[in-house]
This record gives sequence, C-alpha cells and structure tokens, in this order.
Amino acid sequence: MKKLAMYVFIDALGWEIFEKYGFLQSIAPHSRKLETTFGFSSAADPSILTGRYPDEHTHWSSFIYDPKYSPFKALRYFAFLPPQIFDRWRVRHNLSKVIKRAYKYTGYFQLYSVPFKFLPYFDYLEKRDYFVPNGILKTDTIFDWCVKSQIPHYCSNWRHTEEQILIENKKAISEAQAKLIYVYLPKLDAVMHEHGPFSTQTEEKLHWLEQQITSLFDYANRIYDDVSLYVISDHGMAPVTGTYDLMKEINQMGYEYGKDYAAFYDSTMARFWFFNDDAKAKIMSHLKTLACGSIIPEQELMEMHVWFPHNKFGDVYFLMNEGLLINPSFMGKKPVSGMHGYHPKAAHSYSIMLSNRQIPESISSITDIRKTMEYELAK
Ligand SMILES: [Zn+2]
Repeated sequence: MKKLAMYVFIDALGWEIFEKYGFLQSIAPHSRKLETTFGFSSAADPSILTGRYPDEHTHWSSFIYDPKYSPFKALRYFAFLPPQIFDRWRVRHNLSKVIKRAYKYTGYFQLYSVPFKFLPYFDYLEKRDYFVPNGILKTDTIFDWCVKSQIPHYCSNWRHTEEQILIENKKAISEAQAKLIYVYLPKLDAVMHEHGPFSTQTEEKLHWLEQQITSLFDYANRIYDDVSLYVISDHGMAPVTGTYDLMKEINQMGYEYGKDYAAFYDSTMARFWFFNDDAKAKIMSHLKTLACGSIIPEQELMEMHVWFPHNKFGDVYFLMNEGLLINPSFMGKKPVSGMHGYHPKAAHSYSIMLSNRQIPESISSITDIRKTMEYELAK
C-alpha cells in the first residue's frame, strides 16, 4: 500500500482567518488552534521543522548584535551616499542579492530598511537554507530525520513562485517515490500584510489556495493508495490599527547609538542593548511610561522559550500591543495593513492545523507539528 503524508504550509494562515472564512473543510474537516512561537518567521519556521522552541534550536531574530563579526562593516560608507537613491527598495533589494552571493548565504536574506550606519553593529543569522538537511546548526529538522531514517521526501523550493511550487510538487507526486511532501505556499502572508487579514484580497487568495490544494490532493489520491493531508501555518496576522514612532522618541533622548546603547527596531518590537547604566535606567524608565507596548519580563521570555544565555538578540525587549506598528522601523518605512510578531497569546497570533485525520489532543503548538509528521511516516 502506497502512503503519502502531504503537508501544505501556508504562511500566516491564522486561526482567526480560518474562523472567519473557513478553509478546506470539505477535504480537511479536522482543525486545531496552534500556539505560535514568539518572534517572526525566522523563529517559527525552524520551530516547525525541528519540533523545538527557539531556546533549543537557537534561531530567533535574523539580525543579531555582533559588531566584531558583522559582515556589513563596509556598508557604513553607504550612509554617506544620497539616501533618495540608496534607500530605495529596489536598490536595497539588489544590494541584498549582491551580499547574499558574496557571502554565499543560502538562506533568505534581505537588508530591509536597516540604516546603513547601523548595519555594522549586526550580523545576520539565517545564513543557511534550513529547508535542506543540515540547515539548522544545533538540532536536526524533519528533513534530517528523513535522510537518517532513509525516508524519501520532497520539499518545495521556497525561491520559486507558488505556481511553480505547485507544478513541482505535482511532479514529485507523479513519481510516487516520496513518502512526505512539504508544499510551501508563502504568498498569503504578503497579501495580508498589504491589504489586511480581513480584506477581499485575502478572501480571493484563500479561494485560489483552496482550489489549488484540492486539485493537488485529488491528484495525489490517484497516485497513492492513502494520503494524509495536513495544512499548517507558522502564525496568524493582526489588522494594523495604529503606528508609533518609537525610533524618533528614543533618538530625542540624546543618547549616542553605538556608545550608550544600540537598538534594533523590528515592526512589532524594539530590542535594546545598553552600554552604560545611565542610558539603561533612563531609556527603560521612559519605555515603562509608554502605553503602546511593554517591556517583556525575563521570566516571560523564559516561559516563551526565547531566553538565551547571551545577549546577541537583545538585553531588553519592548513589545508593541497587538495591532500597533513601530513606524518607521528597520523593517520598512511605510506602514502596512497587517502584521504578525506580537505576543503569542494575542488574539490574532494563533496558527492552525487542518487535516483529514483526527488530530490528537496533545497537538497544541507549532512545535508539535513535527510529531504528527513522524507519526505519519512511522505508520
Ligand atoms: Zn509576514
């Protein structure tokens, strides 16, 4: 009997979206709300693939404080070039490609809007492609496990378009060799960032995804005797309700970046490093007065499995309330309509699992997805 475990990953298909619009109930009637990991895709994707939390697999934020080993030292000179040219998205995008090639990075790499003058303080963590075996340094992924267990598998190439990815997965199914296929569909995330999670564009995209997945599932059922379908995601998406210029406010306090403190302004959180007690005390007491967010206590970082014995990710994390954006941030200058990266317990943070199989009660977090994969492959 030929069996296939078909895992379809849809970036940012959150529980709240599923509740509002429904998704694939005709072929995947079982559903489960899953807790995500705190952080962005750079934390959630490795958590899915390893079945472990960031404090164990060690991948959390992409940019880490490491001025000694920063690969971006030469970029400080770009800070003196006209920003109207060198801060354009297209220019930064092409520059990211050049850096990626020069340093032989195989993972996803973007400079985003990190100012050139601050880039030399940081290193980039996702140098390797974690969708291929040996992609995570500290622990194995489901793909390493497949190689070790001699289980034939197929993982989508995330560099290709969704249309290409679907064709490539169909080809892999037609060959009837793989026991596990990982269909990677990232575009819903971009649609919801741009138009908001509750928009006609989201609804249209969901409809298209339903058609594509149903057709791929039907095809797999013609080739294999038994197909277990799992639709999974990394996190949800919150509608953006407001913005806050935290960067300007911290700059106005008069401390010197690089001498008194350093900060990385993600879209939903600011991470701080302090180099003297005065800057630390004053900036922290200012952050405590802000109603737009709060400092995450160390105990809570531990409970969320994102506390690390080093401070490369930050000394202090200031997290925005759900729906509020730090804007401008190092991630972008224009506000967007949807965002993720808020507290995992915030209403729109939750991820999802849908399946044509019963989902055991014990599956409640994205770190549990791997258990279902190993279970399916051991059947
Ligand atoms: Zn996103």
